[in-house]
Amino acid sequence: MNETTRKIAILSSGGDAPGMNAAIRAAVRSGLGRDCKMVGVLHGYQGLIEGEMQELELRSVSDIIHRGGTTLYTARSDEFLTEEGKQKALRNLKAHGADALIVIGGDGSFRGALELARRGVKVVGIPGTIDNDIACSEYTIGFDTAMNTVIEMVDRLRDTAQSHERCSVIEVMGRRCGNLALSAGIATGATAVLVPEMAFDFETDILERIAYTRSIGKRHFIILVSEGVFKEENSRFSSSAEMSAAIAEASGIATRTTVLGHVQRGGSPTAKDRIIASEMGYLAAELLATDRGNRILAVRDGKVCDLDVEEALAAEREFDYALYRMSQGISL
Ligand code: ATP
Repeated sequence: MNETTRKIAILSSGGDAPGMNAAIRAAVRSGLGRDCKMVGVLHGYQGLIEGEMQELELRSVSDIIHRGGTTLYTARSDEFLTEEGKQKALRNLKAHGADALIVIGGDGSFRGALELARRGVKVVGIPGTIDNDIACSEYTIGFDTAMNTVIEMVDRLRDTAQSHERCSVIEVMGRRCGNLALSAGIATGATAVLVPEMAFDFETDILERIAYTRSIGKRHFIILVSEGVFKEENSRFSSSAEMSAAIAEASGIATRTTVLGHVQRGGSPTAKDRIIASEMGYLAAELLATDRGNRILAVRDGKVCDLDVEEALAAEREFDYALYRMSQGISL
């Protein structure tokens, strides 16, 4: 298909993730290289509603590949959920002569993109979220960096837990998805990993695991827990601190609680995040430049590919129970 000259807008939306800048950079350079004009939208869909848009040149995206966060800023927008908000966004795209949009974000941001696609905008979604929770893709930009940050923090906490023979309860991000806790749990040898996808029993999954590993010589214990665990309806505890206190009381082991929080979102992206983000940014602009819209980019069988947006959003996420069992089988 011949490339057509067009104006492509690009925004980041939802939670920021390391690697978003690499995707922005690649998309801008890929688009400009195909004689498209590129427009950056600041503050996600809210910025689109408010017309916060500026043309981007080759040098606008210099010196950002190694930076965490997103230089286009990001936001969550309730106004965009309304029809009026969407119409304002459409008017601003039109006013800037843009009929194509690249959205870097998570599942919610893609649902927003689908709404625009249904109203005539050509969209391409790039999965960027530290949660790795997008059903259609094996990987989301930012996950590797966040996971490595968690591992570094857990290793540090482990040093002190080991010295004092304590139990360290560490809460990581993941409101509905335990992938970050699971992967970091495997990589750090956590005694127990609690994720929102699986109900846990305090006695068997925590106290008995601690007691058993203690009986075979373990003297310090790491309990990794996704934040979403405490938001589950039947959760016995309302917070990591409460669960930590219950562990101390029942086991007699001194415990400490650490909520890692936003440190997990920041930092310079890893090589993996920079490279996948670059591949995705490049492909996103290439698709739109050649008139192929309404796609979501994904990693499948380890390769970057593009999927129909409706089909991609209909996919259901599957938790890797086998990996979970493996992690519990070897972290003794
Ligand atoms: P993260 O995984 O980091 O939370 P996300 O993209 O899933 O990222 P959301 O807060 O769910 O983050 O969505 C970002 C924005 O996308 C919302 O603030 C809203 O403006 C828009 N959005 C979400 N869901 C929809 C929807 N169903 N229809 C239209 N717009 C939506």
